[in-house]
Amino acid sequence: MIDVKEILGFAPLLILDGGHGITTPERRTPPLGDGRVIQEYEFNKTVAALAELYASQLGFETYLTSPDETDTPLPERTEAANRVYREYRDQLQREGVDLSGKDIATFVSIHYNTLGSDYQTRASGVETFYYPTSSKGQRLATNLLDALLRGTSQRNRGVKSGNLYVLRTTEMPAALIEPGFMDYRPEAELMGNDAYREEVAKEIVEGVLQYYGIKHRIE
Ligand SMILES: [Zn+2]
Repeated sequence: MIDVKEILGFAPLLILDGGHGITTPERRTPPLGDGRVIQEYEFNKTVAALAELYASQLGFETYLTSPDETDTPLPERTEAANRVYREYRDQLQREGVDLSGKDIATFVSIHYNTLGSDYQTRASGVETFYYPTSSKGQRLATNLLDALLRGTSQRNRGVKSGNLYVLRTTEMPAALIEPGFMDYRPEAELMGNDAYREEVAKEIVEGVLQYYGIKHRIE
């Protein structure tokens, strides 16, 4: 087991944003083979909580923008993220940590893609997003995509820029991941699969580690 604090000289803060909530029912799979329907927030929040666990085991500081089932409004999520980030930066400065040129925090928003409301659209694969003018966000989104393409074999849709609220309004390097389509049947099945949720959570943390120049695979 590695200790990121030992490697970097400070514990990086990983802010995890599990998108949506129980009250956003339009974000869901079409019925699966057994009739079950999975809402997007179930995947997003489970993966966020798992990633928080894996990251904290490696010495990260962590923060969840929306830890319960409610759909926390976007401004509340990003204002809280920015507040926690500034407080943590001030704390490290008081402790005398040299922060010059260092990214003390990263922000990862977790989603699941959709194009339509049935299984006819046939779009599939993994993509990540960054804010158009953020080169650090682009690097983080690239590291996350590289990690997400390990394990389960899925189509690579690439790293894309997008003027998305959570990417625009966060003050730290930020990226958003879409590790599958809920209206593509095989990936809808993956969305409900515990092993896939664990895999994505590990890959998020591995991608963030890579952003900090650390190559490490979580067992
Ligand atoms: Zn979403």
